[in-house]
Amino acid sequence: MNANLFAALRDAFPADLDATAIECADALGQPLCYSWRDLERGTAMLANLLLSLDLPAGSRVAAHTEKSVEALMLYLAVLRAGYVYLPLNPAYQAAELDYFIKDAEPAMLVCAGANFGWASKLAFLAGTQYVFTLNEDRSGSLLERAAHMSDEHDIAERNADDLAAILYTSGTTGRSKGAMLSHGNLLSNARTLKDLWGWRADDVLIHALPIFHVHGLFVASHGALLAGAKMIWFAKFEPREVIRRFADATVFMGVPTLYVRMLNEAGLTPAACAHMRLFISGSAPLLLDTFTDWQQRSGHIILERYGMSETLMLTSNPCRALDGDRVGGTVGPALPGVELRINNEAGRPCAVDEIGAIEVRGPNVFGGYWRMVEKTKQEFTEDGWFKTGDVGKRDANGYVTIVGRSKDLIISGGFNVYPAEIEGFLNELEGVAESAVIGVPHADFGEAVVAVLVAKPGCSLDGAALIATLKRQIAGFKVPKQIFIVDELPRNAMGKVQKNQLREQHAGLFP
Ligand code: ATP
Ligand code: MG
Repeated sequence: MNANLFAALRDAFPADLDATAIECADALGQPLCYSWRDLERGTAMLANLLLSLDLPAGSRVAAHTEKSVEALMLYLAVLRAGYVYLPLNPAYQAAELDYFIKDAEPAMLVCAGANFGWASKLAFLAGTQYVFTLNEDRSGSLLERAAHMSDEHDIAERNADDLAAILYTSGTTGRSKGAMLSHGNLLSNARTLKDLWGWRADDVLIHALPIFHVHGLFVASHGALLAGAKMIWFAKFEPREVIRRFADATVFMGVPTLYVRMLNEAGLTPAACAHMRLFISGSAPLLLDTFTDWQQRSGHIILERYGMSETLMLTSNPCRALDGDRVGGTVGPALPGVELRINNEAGRPCAVDEIGAIEVRGPNVFGGYWRMVEKTKQEFTEDGWFKTGDVGKRDANGYVTIVGRSKDLIISGGFNVYPAEIEGFLNELEGVAESAVIGVPHADFGEAVVAVLVAKPGCSLDGAALIATLKRQIAGFKVPKQIFIVDELPRNAMGKVQKNQLREQHAGLFP
C-alpha cells in the first residue's frame, strides 16, 4: 500500500468532487470557492510541474510565500510528487532566508514576486536550481507554468518512513532547527487527532493560522482534509470577521493570542458561537484567565493541547464529555499511541504531581534534526525517548501541566524556580494582565528571579508593592528581586514569549 500522506488525504475527499472544499475571499472581499476537484486538479498540475523539472529524489521544495489556497496546494503537490516540503515564514528577510536556504539546500524555491530579486539571488548562490513566484492574487510564474501541465497525476509511492517535510522550529530558545518529519509521522498523528477530536465530514473549520508552522499546516489542514470537511480560509486573522463566520462553522483552532484578541470584540457572545462544536488552543500556554473568560463569553470550554515541531501533537484535553473534563491550565493526557514519561533530576520516574523533564516516544516522533547528527543524538535518550525540553507534571488522572522549558528553569541560590509557577501567582494579582519570569545572572545567587509584567488596560502597577504582596504568598527565593512593567511582551510569529530577548535585555541588572 502507498504510505504517501497525500494518498490518505486524497482517499478522504468526498464522493462529490464538486462540493466546496475551501471557501475564502479574494482581494476585493468577494467569496472565492475551491471544490475538491479544484484541489485534485491543482495539485496534479503542480505535481506534474515538479516532475517535469527532474529534481533529484529527496529534493526539498521551499515555500516563502504568503498564505493562500494555492500555497496549500503547493504543499499537497510536493507530497503528491514525493518531494520534501519546506515552509518558511514569509516575514523572513534576506539574512534569515539565507540561513534556511544554506541549511536546507532546496532544489526549488517559491517566493513572492516582490522578493524575487534578492531571494532568487541568494538561492541560486546556494545551489538552488529553480525559483518560481507565487503572489497573493494567484499571479506569478508557478501557476503560469503549472497551467501547461496535465491535470492527471499518479501519486508517488512512498514508504511511511520516507521524509515528507522539514519544519523549522519556532526559534524560541535559540536558532531554529529543521525537524525531519516522515509521511508516517504526519499521517499517524492526523489519524489519532481525527478520532480523538471527532472530525466529521460535515464539520467546517475556520482556518486562520499561518501555514508555515505545525499548527496551521498540519494540525488544522490535515484535520479538515482527512475528514473531507470544508474549510473557511482566512489569509490573515481578522477577529471580527472570524467571529462573524462562527455561525457557518464548527471548529476553530488558534494560538492563545488569537483568543485574547477575540475576547476584545463585543460581538463575541454565546449566540455568535452557538453553531460551533470545538475551540482548540495550542502552541503556547493558555492563561487561565483566557480559558475562563472564553467560557463565560462564548459558552464553550477551550480544548487545550500540547505539541511541538519535532513530535507533532503529544497530549490533548478530552473532546467528548464522557472521556473527561477539559481542565484549564493543563494540556490533558497523552494521546493514544503516544508514550509520555516525566523524569526527575535523578533520572527516575516522577511521582504524581512531581515536576520533571518530559520525554516522549511514538510513531509521531521525528527522525532527527536536518544535518545535525550530534544535536539529534543529544536530544534522544539511550532507550530511544525524545527529550522535549519541556518541564511539567502529571496529576492522578494523567493530565499533564507544562510548567516551562528546561532552558527557562531558574536556579537561584541552589533552589529550582519554575517560571510558570511564579507567573501563575503574578497573573492573579490585581491589575496584572500577563507576566514573564526569567533568571538573570547574579553574583550571590547564581541567578536571580526577575519578572516582566503587562498591566490590564487602565491599571497602573507598583513593582515594590507587588513584591511585598508576593512575599506573603510564596517562599522568598521564588519572589522576583525586581519587577519591570512594559506595554507588551516580545513574541514571535506564533505568539510565543521570547524569553531569551528578555534575558539579554536584563543580563546586566546585577553586576
Ligand atoms: P525552538 O525549539 O526553536 O526553541 P519552539 O520550541 O517554540 O522553538 P515549536 O516546535 O514551534 O518551537 O514549539 C513547541 C513548543 O511550544 C513546545 O516545546 C512547548 O514549549 C510549547 N507549547 C506548545 N503547546 C503548548 C501548550 N499548550 N502549553 C504550553 N506550551 C506549549
Ligand atoms: Mg522547541
